[in-house]
Amino acid sequence: MDSMDAGMTGETASGVDAIGKPKIAYFSMEIGIDEHIPTYSGGLGILAGDTLKSCADLKVPIVGITLLSENGYFYQKIDGDGNQIELPIDFNPADILEPLPGMASVTIDNRAVRIRIWRYLLKGVTGHTVPVLFLDTNLKENGEWDRTLTTYLYGGDNKYRLAQEIVLGIGGVRALEALGIETVERYHMNEGHAALLTLELLRREKDLERVRQRCVFTTHTPVAAGHDQFDLSFARPMLGEIFPDSLVPETTFENKLNMTMLGLHFSHYINGVAKKHGEVSRLMFPGYTIDSITNGVHSATWTSEPFKRLFDTHMPGWRADSHILRSALGIDKHDIWSAHMEAKRELVDFVNSRYNAGLAYESFTIGFARRQTAYKRPDLLISDIPKLVQIAENAGPIQIIYAGKAHPKDASGKESIRKIIEAAKTIGGKAKIVYIHNYDMGVGKMMVAGVDLWLNTPRRPFEASGTSGMKAAHNGVPQLSTLDGWWLEGCIENITGWAIGPEKTAQQESDDEIDRRDLYEKLEEWILPKYYHDRDNWIRTMRSCIAINGSFFNTNRMVQQYVVNAYFE
Ligand SMILES: *Cc1c(COP(=O)(O)O)cnc(C)c1O
Repeated sequence: MDSMDAGMTGETASGVDAIGKPKIAYFSMEIGIDEHIPTYSGGLGILAGDTLKSCADLKVPIVGITLLSENGYFYQKIDGDGNQIELPIDFNPADILEPLPGMASVTIDNRAVRIRIWRYLLKGVTGHTVPVLFLDTNLKENGEWDRTLTTYLYGGDNKYRLAQEIVLGIGGVRALEALGIETVERYHMNEGHAALLTLELLRREKDLERVRQRCVFTTHTPVAAGHDQFDLSFARPMLGEIFPDSLVPETTFENKLNMTMLGLHFSHYINGVAKKHGEVSRLMFPGYTIDSITNGVHSATWTSEPFKRLFDTHMPGWRADSHILRSALGIDKHDIWSAHMEAKRELVDFVNSRYNAGLAYESFTIGFARRQTAYKRPDLLISDIPKLVQIAENAGPIQIIYAGKAHPKDASGKESIRKIIEAAKTIGGKAKIVYIHNYDMGVGKMMVAGVDLWLNTPRRPFEASGTSGMKAAHNGVPQLSTLDGWWLEGCIENITGWAIGPEKTAQQESDDEIDRRDLYEKLEEWILPKYYHDRDNWIRTMRSCIAINGSFFNTNRMVQQYVVNAYFE
């Protein structure tokens, strides 16, 4: 990935010199900056990285705090039978990050665990920098197990996870202290993983209201079972005296410390990540005022090189102010098409050279890349192969490019990968399927720009927001998706893309049978004919994706909403 949007400087620094005077501290278990820093697994982390990049562009005084996750999430290989193989990622922090002089310490199960702090500087379009701090417990003075706490992202058991969250939340606040940072007014928890920071603030302030004034909480989870929680039987001894008895009633449910309840209890501003997700969250947590700020993506990060050149020519200033993308409606259709074909050739060449896939530049290409897990229904598109082949015969050739990792413990996600690999071997006629291994930011960037249609099939209401379709929109790629998450706000039928299944106002959960029929019908009767026989109109759709959705579903707009509604209200 290029370093124009996110660079680092070479000078060594200390304390306030290293961090500046941030007013907001943004905590996230994962932060995805680029594919060379593998400290992310997916949507949550990439949102965090995109948020901080936009803060750098907008000169928002913020510092990001996360775990080092030295072995990353995992490197994915897939064998001939479709089995996922998980390998550690070889990442040497010293190659990319700078160690800072301060040292923090937390208590876990009555043991002191020391924390080293690494820094990365994100550089905005106007030169403003935002520091990101990576917390690291892999130090000689720590015990064997404690040294591994910042090795794996989302690895290990519940005790490992709680210990990681102690390092992130409590250790993060102490890291700022160790660096001499005294300017922070707001602590933003990006999901419940960071909620223990409230306990450290309470220890200092000794007053609920004063802590509340400082805390902002963003929830990303639309189902009760998805929230992080820990049995009190081990959580209390691990946390020790920093977790007072008086907090137990408000922060625990069925004898478990619930990190979302903890975050909610101590925050004066709470939000979901799309309008619908705000509604769902209000039903899940009655008694709290929950707002919504719809997610976005960092425009310059997710726009491919050919479109960057096109935007620079026609819409100067778009990198600093993504609203300008609305003027894309005035760009010549031929220029849109040739930028798209350049991005498409890059993707097709990559796939053909790596997998000998025999894809063609002219064939209609569908992209599906995301975490492979049941609610996203990765196999909905291939659930009736004869039908799919028949559509390709009738309406024109179809190429499908898949990518995505399954969590190592997600058996059904792994089963989906096997099914897709099996389908890739058996499908014939005018349809082809290929699976790109090890979905990461680099593969993602190539895919969202290089396909003709972005497909998303979450079972509603499980998709809090989703962001990959927003990346596609920035590259003029329309989306076909269930109406859930951001797509409820972004879909204008036949203008920015297409909907699968029941209409916007419908409340029921998705029905696989209805959605499958609708998906095939949309492809056969609307999408393929428009692509193959009404190219002019197809390119109009591409253009309106950029102008209508790119100009709004970006982190530039999103960060401005956080500043006004959450940080400095
Ligand atoms: C954008 C992105 C995601 C999140 O996409 P969703 O649409 O929210 O599923 C996950 N992984 C990578 C590598 C991404 O680039």
